[in-house]
Amino acid sequence: MPALPQKIQRIELPEYFHPIHCPFCGKQIGGGYEDEAETIATEFAPCDHTLFIASDGGFEYISDFIVELFDLESPEKGPHAFVRFSVDEIEEGLLLEGSIMFAFYGPPQVGFFGAYIGFSQIPVDEIQIRD
Ligand SMILES: [Zn+2]
Repeated sequence: MPALPQKIQRIELPEYFHPIHCPFCGKQIGGGYEDEAETIATEFAPCDHTLFIASDGGFEYISDFIVELFDLESPEKGPHAFVRFSVDEIEEGLLLEGSIMFAFYGPPQVGFFGAYIGFSQIPVDEIQIRD
């Protein structure tokens, strides 16, 4: 029997500078660190469960499932894609069992802002969109 759809579960984490791993397959998705120049650098590598990777500046990665579900225009790649689309809209509009979003907030002294990474329990390309 299928479970009821649920809104994405938001899990707020106080510390940005941890490696971020997918809760379902364990792959490292990203993590902030300080490079040799002591600036903040971030790399992201989505796994099959990654719905989106966003910051307050826009989306770093957005899955085809989210593009289709929200009827977005063909995806731009890279930082600041979909600047007119927001994580808030995903939180309001996504009903997906087993979906989780980690929300990170950087320390104010480095002027960093929030980062948001969403995961689906089942691989994103296996999600069925119901009418
Ligand atoms: Zn995964």
